[in-house]
Amino acid sequence: DAPCPAPRPKPWIEAIHAYVPGKSAGDDGRPLVKLSANENPLGTSPAALAARAKAVAPSLYPDADSTALREAIGRLHGIDPALIVMGTGSGELLHTAAGAFAGPGDEVLYSQYAFSLYEIVARRCGAEPVEVPAKDYGNDVTALLAAVTPQTRVVFVANPNNPTGTFLPKAEIARLHAGLPADVLLVLDQAYAEYVDPADDDGSLELAATHPNVLATRTFSKAYGLAGERVGWGTGAAPLIDVLNRIRGAFNIGNSAQATALAALADQDFVTHSRTHNAGERARFTAKVEALGNHGLRAVPSEANFVLILFEGRLSGEAAYKGLADRGYIVRWLPSQGLAQALRITIGNRADMDAIAAILRELA
Ligand code: PMP
Repeated sequence: DAPCPAPRPKPWIEAIHAYVPGKSAGDDGRPLVKLSANENPLGTSPAALAARAKAVAPSLYPDADSTALREAIGRLHGIDPALIVMGTGSGELLHTAAGAFAGPGDEVLYSQYAFSLYEIVARRCGAEPVEVPAKDYGNDVTALLAAVTPQTRVVFVANPNNPTGTFLPKAEIARLHAGLPADVLLVLDQAYAEYVDPADDDGSLELAATHPNVLATRTFSKAYGLAGERVGWGTGAAPLIDVLNRIRGAFNIGNSAQATALAALADQDFVTHSRTHNAGERARFTAKVEALGNHGLRAVPSEANFVLILFEGRLSGEAAYKGLADRGYIVRWLPSQGLAQALRITIGNRADMDAIAAILRELA
């Protein structure tokens, strides 16, 4: 029989494997404590929740330009609101940026152990994803620069990096930017920036403000506790923001998302508390993992709201993953990213982190 004619996806689209989100239930449907998606264990600012309840009626379209929200972001960060573009999560902006600057025949560069969405983003626009070897589980600026070819159009760097938590200091970000050709777009993905000690700021927003080839992206999904509202933003030079605004989704931030993010932004005490809580629990948890070093457990130093634990002894990554799931904790095991002997664990509340450390001690 002749096959029934049907629309055919482009070949580069057929090559895409779907993004795999962190699970929230066991294979048997049992609810688990979810520490697999880097959500905020403190929840959401109460002021933001109150604003969400009072948002504009859902029968009405939202402000297509998220004007009040961009103005508030601009005030907080000292950025002209005209130089801010909103995204349905920062993930939308990664797609929008790559789609605007790369296509078939072009290369999109990122590190080994980078955020898994970058490969999907590169493939979706028809470009060739180029993965550059990491150094100590993090971005290697020298290797990234050495991998640039005349076909390179976009470079993605998350700082801190997901899933490894590694962090490049300001001087390394500057060295990367200085070494790139001026016509290559550098996307500095700052999804976890609010978790970094402000004294260690990596200068991404400043680079984006002063160079035409830098897009810095941020999100409300992590420290702001709004992963479910899907709000992200990016900033860069006027021509860059203009092109992204032309191709982003119209009305891409809904009424309740705009209202909630606006109130969340005003509650900086919540963000500060989230950062302080995270830094404290991350240090406590990391120390407990390091104490299991004689069993082959090791924590990659993290500046984010999660820690990558390496299993280099008798206990395998898979056995640790299953052991935690059996006891009610779902974390991230990433064999498809070359991290079969590792788990990425979101920093949760103290009781859960102590329980996880105790389970790992028992399993090791
Ligand atoms: N960048 C990085 C590095 C991330 O880890 C994530 C979320 N996993 C995102 C971007 C996208 O997040 P969102 O679309 O929720 O802003």
